[in-house]
Amino acid sequence: MRANDPALRSWVPVPEGNDFPIQNLPFGIFRTKNRNPRVGVAIGDFVLDLAAVAEFGYFDSLTLDKKVFSQNTLNAFIATGQQNWRKVRDRVSELLDEKSQALQGQKSARQNCLIPMSDVEMLMPIHVPDYTDFYSSIDHATNMGKMFRDPANALLPNWKHIPVGYHGRASSICVSGTSFHRPKGQLKPADAEVPTFGPTKLLDFELETAFVIGKATQLGDSVTTAEAQDHIFGMVLFNDWSARDIQSWEYVPLGPFLSKNFCSVASPWIVTMDALEPFRVEGYKQEPKVLPYLEYSGNKNIDINLEVLIRTPDGTENSICRSNYKYMYWTMEQQLAHHTVNGCNINVGDMMASGTISGPEEGSFGSMMEITWRGTKPLKMKDGSERKFINDGDAVIIRGYAEKNGVRIGFGDCDSTVLPAK
Ligand code: MN
Repeated sequence: MRANDPALRSWVPVPEGNDFPIQNLPFGIFRTKNRNPRVGVAIGDFVLDLAAVAEFGYFDSLTLDKKVFSQNTLNAFIATGQQNWRKVRDRVSELLDEKSQALQGQKSARQNCLIPMSDVEMLMPIHVPDYTDFYSSIDHATNMGKMFRDPANALLPNWKHIPVGYHGRASSICVSGTSFHRPKGQLKPADAEVPTFGPTKLLDFELETAFVIGKATQLGDSVTTAEAQDHIFGMVLFNDWSARDIQSWEYVPLGPFLSKNFCSVASPWIVTMDALEPFRVEGYKQEPKVLPYLEYSGNKNIDINLEVLIRTPDGTENSICRSNYKYMYWTMEQQLAHHTVNGCNINVGDMMASGTISGPEEGSFGSMMEITWRGTKPLKMKDGSERKFINDGDAVIIRGYAEKNGVRIGFGDCDSTVLPAK
């Protein structure tokens, strides 16, 4: 893919360590003081306004309705199909290439199309019709099993046969920058006879990624692991906020309900699967062998470095976890094949989250539950305070990037802040 060539350089300056070199070109929705919500592409510390690019005629060679770039979600653009995602990304890559004068050499078009990132407000990039959350990190599932059940049999018998998941709620998925109130609910400590009602005492984050469906299916149809890549538009970082005390009381027998649907946060830029292609790595060795409909070929894992930080109310950032997407046991292709094997239909914009992504070692665990081992090993913050779970006034930030051959592709921050209970 030409747009992934590590030799490409943009005439837009891209500082060292920036998430958005010319090889990335993720899509998002933004607005400014005087521009309505529209589609943008991140490049260095700037946003390329695709509605403006289209107005100036730079997409005229593409057979694409310009209106898809002046919507307040990406759904219409995504629905035009994979060929068009690729054509637009390739055309944007050409326009931003230092060797091209087409946009670089046209002062008024250039000034109109390129906006400093500090001047834009990023919005929720997609309308999400449906949201599913998987549970696909073996180290996370093992840690949770050790804490809550039997250390000797930490994984439940189905775990290595089924990409376990549950249907979440789409209405409360928010974009990075969101603040939300500490949720309230029913709590029942192990030593109490009856439940009480109040704000959660065990507010936790979950380090996840999510993929965005780019091609719908009809009710009754299934997607094979080989076809899955045609149905996935791209990925975001995802914080699936969770209230552990509400969860432990409510989850039997139908799984999480109010402990998980009060706020989940996505990073604003959708990094395309095309941009992530160079960072594919071999999948987790699956033993026992999976059923035929879950078999796949090729390198389907992805090497994406992930980090979680707590920003305490004094503004200092404390790094508390470094993990990697490659620790996933089940691939996105398997998750999607499993999700649709019964004929469940999917829609453009559906989000499917990975589940908490923990690595094998301490320091790579993707939730406070695991990091502090149910609160038994509190974390020291730079301001001198301790954390067992997340406090009011804290923000949690997820960062992530893939890096290879001198190219570093990032996602931008997934940042959200906890307010006191309402
Ligand atoms: Mn989750």
